[in-house]
Amino acid sequence: MEITAVKAIPLSHDLEEGRSFGGTRGMTGSRETTLVRLEADDGTVGWGEAFASPRAVAALVEDVFADAVIGLSPLAAPSLAERVYTGDIGGYDTGRQAFVQCALTGIEVAMWDLRGKQLGVPIHKLLGGRGIESVVPYASTMYVTEWDQDPAEPMEAAAEEGFTAAKIKIGRGLEDDRHRVETAREILGDDAHIMVDYNGNYTPRQAVKSINNLSSYDLTWVEEPVPPENLSGYREIKNRVDVPLAAGEAHFGRFEFKRLIDEQLVDVIQPNLGQCGGFAEAQFLAKLATTENVLVRPHVWNSGVGTAAALQFAASLPDYPNAPEMAPEPFLFEFDRSENPLRHDILETPLDPTGGSLSVPQKSGLGVTVDETALERYRIG
Ligand SMILES: [Mg+2]
Repeated sequence: MEITAVKAIPLSHDLEEGRSFGGTRGMTGSRETTLVRLEADDGTVGWGEAFASPRAVAALVEDVFADAVIGLSPLAAPSLAERVYTGDIGGYDTGRQAFVQCALTGIEVAMWDLRGKQLGVPIHKLLGGRGIESVVPYASTMYVTEWDQDPAEPMEAAAEEGFTAAKIKIGRGLEDDRHRVETAREILGDDAHIMVDYNGNYTPRQAVKSINNLSSYDLTWVEEPVPPENLSGYREIKNRVDVPLAAGEAHFGRFEFKRLIDEQLVDVIQPNLGQCGGFAEAQFLAKLATTENVLVRPHVWNSGVGTAAALQFAASLPDYPNAPEMAPEPFLFEFDRSENPLRHDILETPLDPTGGSLSVPQKSGLGVTVDETALERYRIG
C-alpha cells in the first residue's frame, strides 16, 4: 500500500451571536479544526485531525508535508516525527513549533488509520498494550459563557446523561472557584471524580491559594493552574499543594513533555491526538511518563476523528503502575459536552459517552467512519 493523495480539509462551525464560551483565558465564537484525508493506491482512505487554526494548518499539511508523504507506505508512520525534527520534512529550525506538530499529527494519525484498515485491526491493537474495551468518560463542562448561565445547568445536564465524572472551568477568583466546585460536587455526589481547569489564568501564588481553598472537595486533578510556559510556577505549586497537577494540551513535542516528566512538574500528562506528534509520539510520551510514574490521560477537545484517535490511544496505554484489575481509579477520558457538531455530525456513527461508559471502537483503523457529505457543511476551504 502506498499513499497517493494528501488533502487537508479545514472545518468551522460558527456559534450563534452571544453564545461564545470557553475558559478563563478567552472564549471562542466558533468550533474549528482541520481533517487530513490520505488516499492509498488501492482506494483506502485514512483520516487524521490537525487541531489548530484551520486554514493555517491546512496550508502546512498541503505545502510542507504532502510531497514528503506521497509515495510512502503507511508503515512509515512511526518515522515521521523524526523526519520533522531533523528537518527532512519542513526545516529543523521550525519542526518543534506548535502548528508543525499539529500538521504532523494529522498526517501521522491518518497513516495509522490506513495501516489499521489495511490489516483489518483497530489502531489500539497495532499499538499493543492492554486493549481495554471501555473507558469512563468525564464531561468537560461548566464553561465560562458569554451569556448569563447558571453553572448548575450544564452540570445537571451532564448528570442526566449519566456522566459520573466531570472537569469544569475555574480561575476567576477564590469565591467563584469555590462556588463552581461546590455546585459540581453537590450535583455529581461525593464519589464522583471532579477535575478543575484554570487554563493557566493564575500566578503560582493565586493558584496555591485557590487549590488549598478547594482542599475539602477531593479534586482528582488540577489542570493548567498557571500558563504552560511557567515551569517554575508548576514546581512551586507542586511543592505547596496536595492535589495532582495536570498539563499537556499546550505543550508540544517530546522535549517539552520530557521536562514536565523528568522534573516531576505534573502528575498527569495530557497529550492531544490532534497536536502531540501522532500515535508513535504519544506512545513514546506514555513510556517516558512511566519513568517518573506520571499518569497519561489524553486531552480531547477535538472533532469526532481526533476523539476516536484519543480513544484508540487510551485503549493501548499500560496499567503502570497499577496491577491489572487493581487500579484505584477508572481510566478517565475527556468528553466535551459543549456545542460542537464536528464531534458527532461528521461521523456516520457518533461516539456515545452517555450512561457512564464509552466503548472503544473495535473496527479497523480509528474504528469510525467519516461522513464526507456532512463534512461539506462545515468546510471553509
Ligand atoms: Mg484544559
